[in-house]
Amino acid sequence: MYCNQCEQTAHGTGCVKSPGVCGKDEDVQSLQETLLYGLKGMAAYASHARRLGKSDEKVSAFIEEALFATMTNVNFDTQSLLEMLLECGHQNLRVMQLLDEGHVETFGEPSPSVVREGTFAGPGILITGHDLLDLQDLLKQCEGTNVKVYTHGEMLPAHMYPKLREHPNLAGNYGGAWQLQKSEFAEFPGPIVATTNCILIPRPSYADRLFTTRCTAVPGGTRILDGDFSPVVAKALACPPLGDSHVKDTTIGFHQNVILGAADTIVQAVKDGKISHFFLIGGCDGAEPGRNYFTEYALATPPDSFILTLGCGKFRIRGADYGELLGLPRLLDMGQCNNAYSAIKVAVALAEAFNCSVNDLPLTLVVSWFEQKAVAVLLTLLALGVKGVTIGPNPPGFVTPNVFKILQEKFDLRLTGESAQADLAMAIA
Ligand code: SF4
Ligand code: SF4
Repeated sequence: MYCNQCEQTAHGTGCVKSPGVCGKDEDVQSLQETLLYGLKGMAAYASHARRLGKSDEKVSAFIEEALFATMTNVNFDTQSLLEMLLECGHQNLRVMQLLDEGHVETFGEPSPSVVREGTFAGPGILITGHDLLDLQDLLKQCEGTNVKVYTHGEMLPAHMYPKLREHPNLAGNYGGAWQLQKSEFAEFPGPIVATTNCILIPRPSYADRLFTTRCTAVPGGTRILDGDFSPVVAKALACPPLGDSHVKDTTIGFHQNVILGAADTIVQAVKDGKISHFFLIGGCDGAEPGRNYFTEYALATPPDSFILTLGCGKFRIRGADYGELLGLPRLLDMGQCNNAYSAIKVAVALAEAFNCSVNDLPLTLVVSWFEQKAVAVLLTLLALGVKGVTIGPNPPGFVTPNVFKILQEKFDLRLTGESAQADLAMAIA
């Protein structure tokens, strides 16, 4: 364990042995850190929702109380901290609901959309991160110019919202997940706007073209605090133009409202044996080779199954052609990581239609995690009683073996194994 949050920390540097000077042991520390990281993820979603005019006083009160529980000499009790973790999951569900409502009310009812991947000749701006309001502001400020705007990373799902998609300056998507940005941003000749995580410290070759918004900031980049993107537009006009490149077209936009619109067909197809299984393969992407597990898992899914995906983990699996089922793509891209809310709504609706619990559905969740929003989403799944979730590619370093054992016993939480194919065979069996 490591804790240095109070004055009595061992040797004035940190309690590294369990228990620490106050008596807090490594499992309590682990639960408090898990809570803290879940709260960080939830705070990111809550911040986006607040910008769209959505907030809930009960959520804010929970965040305050849960932070309080991580202070020195407040809570040494495993059971009550476990309860708080699950409450964090419930509150995060509420936050994701608020964010979803904010997105739909502000940008319109989502629908499937074909996105052009690549660039057009002429000036262009790349925008990445999760804040769709920044994208809308940028588009408005590009109106009347020949500057085109391209989405990157977690901004790709913007194309499912009509009020963003139909803007004449929104031209397509460029690039993949966050970990590729150092090469992709270097190759993109125009300015780049990073609205949230996951931003990396830029290479000197593009730092002067990198703009960030509000709390997102990097050395060498330019911060925009007031929503005035005129320096970005001016930079786009000053930079060398983009080339004409059409890489491919992809289909996104399978928000819960779209899938639930086809619920009768899907339920009947399950009853008729035309759909054998649903897989949720998504979450965060990252650079580790172990993340090929998720690619292999998706490739091994049977042709009569659907793959739901969300978050930038989709970039691990969206390169392949999975074909169609019932006239729909087998790979259904539901959106950003916060659209885990969509996946939950679909799972709950299917469970209601079959008069069973989510755990009794032919549904397997394989979640790639990287940062703290993924922690919040995992806590939501656990809070809803979802069992058998597989996470990877590595176990969280802040979860001690004892705490992991508790989660395994209560929720059958699993880690990705050596072989994606073997894990998949076990899930189907
Ligand atoms: S809170 Fe406890 S474990 Fe943490 S630094 Fe203080 S004495 Fe050490
Ligand atoms: S899904 Fe996670 S890792 Fe990916 S961009 Fe969003 S926050 Fe970052």
